Amino acid sequence: TRALTAVATRRIEDAYELGSRLGEGAFATVVRGVDRATREPVAVKVIKKDAFDDREMEFVVRETAIMKAICHPNIVAVRDVYESRSHLYLVLELLEGGELFDLVASAGSLSEQRASEVMRGVVSGLAYLHGQGICHRDIKPENILATSKTWPLQVKLSDLGMAHSHLDDDGDGRADSFFADNDDGSNSSATPRSSSRSCEPSAASAPVTSGNTSQFRMPSDAGRSAPSGTCGGGGGGGGHLIGTPGYVAPEVIRRLPGANAPPSDMWSAGVVLYILLSGKMPFYGRNDAECLARTASGAYAMPAREWSRVSPAAVSLVRGMLCVDPSKRLTASAALQHPWLASPSTLSASPL
Ligand code: ADP
Ligand code: MG
Repeated sequence: TRALTAVATRRIEDAYELGSRLGEGAFATVVRGVDRATREPVAVKVIKKDAFDDREMEFVVRETAIMKAICHPNIVAVRDVYESRSHLYLVLELLEGGELFDLVASAGSLSEQRASEVMRGVVSGLAYLHGQGICHRDIKPENILATSKTWPLQVKLSDLGMAHSHLDDDGDGRADSFFADNDDGSNSSATPRSSSRSCEPSAASAPVTSGNTSQFRMPSDAGRSAPSGTCGGGGGGGGHLIGTPGYVAPEVIRRLPGANAPPSDMWSAGVVLYILLSGKMPFYGRNDAECLARTASGAYAMPAREWSRVSPAAVSLVRGMLCVDPSKRLTASAALQHPWLASPSTLSASPL
């Protein structure tokens, strides 16, 4: 396999001890590591090079370049990059708390005060990325990691594998990368960054019910290890969707101008907020197509059973983020000014 970076001569094993598995995505395994020199713990994202063709690998390299260049308290830092003949290794800041929603599931429901803190972290990270001309494009619970398993904690956005710098955008506003142009209808082979694994029919059949012991177990978890399934756009011709059903914005599904621009990230963050407050998915379906069709229409409910205890300020923020028209949707910097994010001390500290 060809070398992709200029670092192919350094061996990761010489610098880090690699240990137990922390998590898994469709294309990567993330393991614990320890810096041999400083004994500092890290996370190492191990990416198999032969899972990608050249074009796909460009995106992996893009992730690496983007992540190395950015520095913000709410974005997982990339410390270093290594490469062997078969693998690419990203040495990441270790987030001991793991995925935010696993944490929330074990803690029961959050207070509005804590939900607001979490959301402020997410939106601050997005404000920074958007200010740098970068869209994350895959905001969802598995990609929001926590610094600790106990409060107080901070959240950080991870997995910029689909991130897109709109500085080099071709201007048509269409989803123009990973598999977006793969119009041949095939989806049986690898569907790497499409994340289509995340809305498997069996998993997405219903909103998470409040009787469920793991209230925050995301439907997307079930299909995680099975990177298969279709995820064609809802009405905009062939090709695969960029993003994850349930989280992806209507304009992305409908391939409207402005798709995959900063507002699309804000929609996905709005879905995360909806889930934090209610324990349910706003857009769901028995299969991807149904899930995507509901999202495309933009219609979602706020049943009194979950929402009667939620404050009007929180509801207004959800509505501002889940606004179908991307030009009217709250931007990250506007959301940070919203009272529910700006004044957490006024919010309830008791669990929802
Ligand atoms: P993929 O691109 O394949 O989705 P991710 O970068 O999202 O891979 O990582 C997969 C999983 O590994 C995450 O969902 C999380 O559980 C875990 N993980 C990723 N990065 C870290 C980190 N820096 N610290 C701790 N766990 C991590
Ligand atoms: Mg991921």
